[in-house]
Amino acid sequence: MKSALNDMNNSFFQAAQLILQAKYLVAFTGAGISVESGIPPFRGPGGLWTKVDPRHFEIGYFEQNPEQSWRLIKQLFYESFKNARPNPAHLALATLEKGQRLKSIITQNIDYLHQQAGSRQVIEYHGSYRYLRCLNCNSHFTASEHFLNNLPPHCLECAGLLKPDFVFFGEAIPEAVINQSIAEAMKADVMLIIGSTGEVFPASQIPEIAYRYGSKFIEINIEPSNYTQSLNPIFLKGPAGQVLQQLMKVIANEEFKKV
Ligand code: NAD
Repeated sequence: MKSALNDMNNSFFQAAQLILQAKYLVAFTGAGISVESGIPPFRGPGGLWTKVDPRHFEIGYFEQNPEQSWRLIKQLFYESFKNARPNPAHLALATLEKGQRLKSIITQNIDYLHQQAGSRQVIEYHGSYRYLRCLNCNSHFTASEHFLNNLPPHCLECAGLLKPDFVFFGEAIPEAVINQSIAEAMKADVMLIIGSTGEVFPASQIPEIAYRYGSKFIEINIEPSNYTQSLNPIFLKGPAGQVLQQLMKVIANEEFKKV
């Protein structure tokens, strides 16, 4: 028991050292970072896919059944995200950016919680729930009540069908987003992977690219992921908010020792 505790303390110390020595620290976040904000992940126990049929998020199905899909999407995302607030994990990353330690966040999340926490350099790999996009003319609109009270919402320019501006199954990731994410992964010498299974392709390739370009890794998750074996990270087990709060204390302590 004592030795397990020592190992954990040692991992926090090593992770803090890695962050303090990093020249280009990048964070890669998945659904797990927002669980303590009350937003469930897709996979795993309590995940969305245990309750909801994922085909509502296939672009072909959505186009055929827009009203049905939109009712579910409104309930799952627009109604539940409204009350979600950034948790200590989002806030810790924003603090690291302000302190000029963290260069960017590549997030698979669509919930805008990183920006709400104060992070500015955020790449939203799968888009955002805050905007709507016309499937006909590609116009964008803020997802306001005006649209969400009239389902399915239609474009003000051409009356085409509007969809949330996050990536559905069967849709491509915008090229600019892919290129920006790859560029950040290539520059990273340390990458923090937080709350991601590593099962969603092609997002899952971002840490792999960082690995090929020589990055080291710190992973925070309640359980091992695909990355825990393949990228040899310093693994900090536990809920992201709790772990990052603890890690920030160790970082502050180590910085203090240097003064
Ligand atoms: P995932 O749903 O596949 O996996 C979630 C991961 O988080 C798992 O590895 C799980 O062990 C871990 N986890 C759960 N609770 C945690 C906690 N408290 N602290 C740390 N880790 C925790 O998530 P994914 O790999 O990110 O991929 C699913 C896709 O679904 C993503 O691309 C994302 O776009 C989307 N998604 C987004 C949100 C959101 O915006 N908040 C929510 C659900 C799904």
